Amino acid sequence: MQPVIELADVDLTLGEGAARVHVLKGVSLSIAPGETVSLLGPSGSGKSTLLMTLAGLERPDAGVVRIDGRDLGVLSEDELARFRGAKIGVVFQSFQLIPTMTALENVAVPLELAGKGDAFAIAEAELAAVGLSHRLSHYPTQLSGGEQQRVALARALAPDPLILAADEPTGNLDSETGASVIDLIFAQQKRRGATLVLVTHDPGLAARCGRRVRLRSGRIESDSA
Ligand code: ADP
Ligand code: MG
Repeated sequence: MQPVIELADVDLTLGEGAARVHVLKGVSLSIAPGETVSLLGPSGSGKSTLLMTLAGLERPDAGVVRIDGRDLGVLSEDELARFRGAKIGVVFQSFQLIPTMTALENVAVPLELAGKGDAFAIAEAELAAVGLSHRLSHYPTQLSGGEQQRVALARALAPDPLILAADEPTGNLDSETGASVIDLIFAQQKRRGATLVLVTHDPGLAARCGRRVRLRSGRIESDSA
């Protein structure tokens, strides 16, 4: 089967001058459709940068990133943004909702910008799927952390992406709330047959993924089922 995510010899350096850091060093990784993969490793090992790279939010200095068979390196910024919007949903530790928009608008407006005609109806259904039908008109500051992350999850899933990329999605939540968000992530991933790439520090959570990729100093140290 063609991998949905394929990285070949990816190198990436971030920062300028004395702050320059060689973050990813010759990373190669191939992920099949529907896999659940956790990204583990010490703080600063490059987990977030690798996730952003495979989500098309960082461009490597060298090497190839292929998503659903498409080489991201040949796409213009506009093409990449459109492709990413259709294929990859991203959830961050810090939720990253737009504070001036309601829950419904946070989900619907990106869909509308992507040219979906029934954006608000889709958004309402996605918010229902994460149990937030009663919070459509609430602004992010009026929502709990768990609710905000569920809005972010609905936003990420609304385009029905092939890939869900989550960077420590429970890092800002208490353990009980975090567990319910994680259950929701796995339930939605399974229902949609999406590929999940999940950055986590939690060994118990990593154990729920079919595959564990461990980074150390920007290199893949181990990759095991
Ligand atoms: P992790 O998520 O595993 O903690 P990151 O991918 O966030 O690691 O960061 C990996 C390394 O890259 C760290 O040393 C970090 O300081 C560095 N880094 C990340 N982003 C930047 C940046 N924009 N400029 C300079 N260095 C960066
Ligand atoms: Mg990180």
